[in-house]
Amino acid sequence: MTTQREMPVTSSIPLMRPWVDEAEVMAVANTIRSGWIAQGPQVMAFEREFARHMDLPHAVALSSGTSALEMALTLLEIGPGDDVVVPSLTFIATANAVRRVGARPVFADVSPVTGTLTAATIEQALTPVTAAAIVVHQAGVPADTESISARLPSLPLIEDAACAAGSMTRGRATASGALLAAWSFHPRKLITTGEGGMLTTTDHDFARRARRLREHGTDIPAAVRHNDASPRRESYGEVGFNMRMTDIQAALGRVQLARLAALVEQRRQLAEHYAEHLSVDPRLTLMGDPDYGLTNYQSLCLRLGPDVSVNPTDVLHSLAEQGITGRHGIMAIHRQPAYRDHGHVALPVTDELTERTMILPLFHQMTRGDVRRIARHVLRAVAA
Ligand SMILES: *Cc1c(COP(=O)(O)O)cnc(C)c1O
Repeated sequence: MTTQREMPVTSSIPLMRPWVDEAEVMAVANTIRSGWIAQGPQVMAFEREFARHMDLPHAVALSSGTSALEMALTLLEIGPGDDVVVPSLTFIATANAVRRVGARPVFADVSPVTGTLTAATIEQALTPVTAAAIVVHQAGVPADTESISARLPSLPLIEDAACAAGSMTRGRATASGALLAAWSFHPRKLITTGEGGMLTTTDHDFARRARRLREHGTDIPAAVRHNDASPRRESYGEVGFNMRMTDIQAALGRVQLARLAALVEQRRQLAEHYAEHLSVDPRLTLMGDPDYGLTNYQSLCLRLGPDVSVNPTDVLHSLAEQGITGRHGIMAIHRQPAYRDHGHVALPVTDELTERTMILPLFHQMTRGDVRRIARHVLRAVAA
């Protein structure tokens, strides 16, 4: 059996590595030993702690960030006949959730500075049947939801905060004031539960209904029924889902949550080192803080200026030869086969960003030396 200590020391650098150690192992083991592993006391504690940490009123743990988006749309009663404005420049789950509830995603362009929707780009995508917009805090860079709401006050916003744990907007946790926000704990995000998500809301009734809907619409959660000495019969008021998180996942999430501040600080420091090293070539820019907030650098997006003659694929190949794993920039959903026949307005900024950006390695255990080495190879590749 190979243990972590026996693993060979290689000089290859992955894109991302979650920060998980013995504390998580113990928390998971203790939960398994407790005899209750499905949704129960750990999930309740994780929800409480997440809400406190993010300074928001209601948190409902779910099976994934995608589930949380689908739940948010369901709570707004969005379905067939409704349009929902979404960016194309995002992970495909954002648009898929809209399709899954039977509504139509309408793609809008994004700001070239933040890669996120703005009031102006949303306005271009409005139709007579627009029911909501999903604003994505892309790669951890907060969108300016306050100015969107100021200009479009009657448009309900769902915030896709899948990547945004630890980002800040005007001095508050990003998405903490959201009517509805969807969070993800996939290992590609800052804190992880393996798979998992959270729906947060400022609306008490949305939170109550989401708790029932995630468990098939029941009025008595299974964990409560289990501990109830009297044989009460539960009732199912409406058709729900199974979107539950397990106590095993929540136990992991509670330990991860305590790491969030340190994770963000380390990522921001490493990003600063990247910026220092890459600044010798003025044609390169890193997507960073907007003037109203702070990014958690969930992804470190490097943009190649128009006068760089190579493209991200060339640079990624050069990095791969050095054992360094990068990725193409954020995908554009309107270019995917599943959305081929889906009409959309012109998306020039989205096209430019998806073609000319790439994602560089960034994770907690990286060293300044790793950053220096990666930056050196990037500079060499773009100088070619
Ligand atoms: C990861 C991600 C999702 C989906 O989250 P899962 O937990 O993987 O379902 C949705 N939107 C964005 C922007 C994401 O990055």
